Amino acid sequence: MKCEICSSTKTTKNRPCRPPWNLCNRCYKLSKKPNSNRRNRGRKKVDVPKRNEWRRMLQKAWNRDRGCFECKITHIKLNINDKDSPLYLNLDHSNPSKNNGGYMIVAAFVNEMKHKMNLNKFRKIVPLLRDVISNPPKTSSIKELEHSMKRW
Ligand SMILES: [Zn+2]
Repeated sequence: MKCEICSSTKTTKNRPCRPPWNLCNRCYKLSKKPNSNRRNRGRKKVDVPKRNEWRRMLQKAWNRDRGCFECKITHIKLNINDKDSPLYLNLDHSNPSKNNGGYMIVAAFVNEMKHKMNLNKFRKIVPLLRDVISNPPKTSSIKELEHSMKRW
């Protein structure tokens, strides 16, 4: 039987969960619970996806050609074993100010960087950061970054 997340045929069993999914050992470990590392830093309660929703996210993050889980923003290969790695697989809210779902699987460092920002803002800020920290910095980007960062 094939793993329903990564299609691996290794040691797949029907796992004791409801509804049952055929999962390999690796995916079973990942599928247990969403690893929200954003533990309610503010006052608002942060939702995590339901177990089935989480598994569908894992399915989508799996890149069959490369044989790895990918960050949905940067497409880099995620680390699934080392929780301290900047590349560790993280659950992210694409818009943390609203508890409206919109979850994504991203690398831990991306999650850290876009804490407090929504995805659109993050996409705008990152290329500006590249411009301002390059040598020599781009003056127009400095101004744009200053303007963009007046609020989160
Ligand atoms: Zn699997």
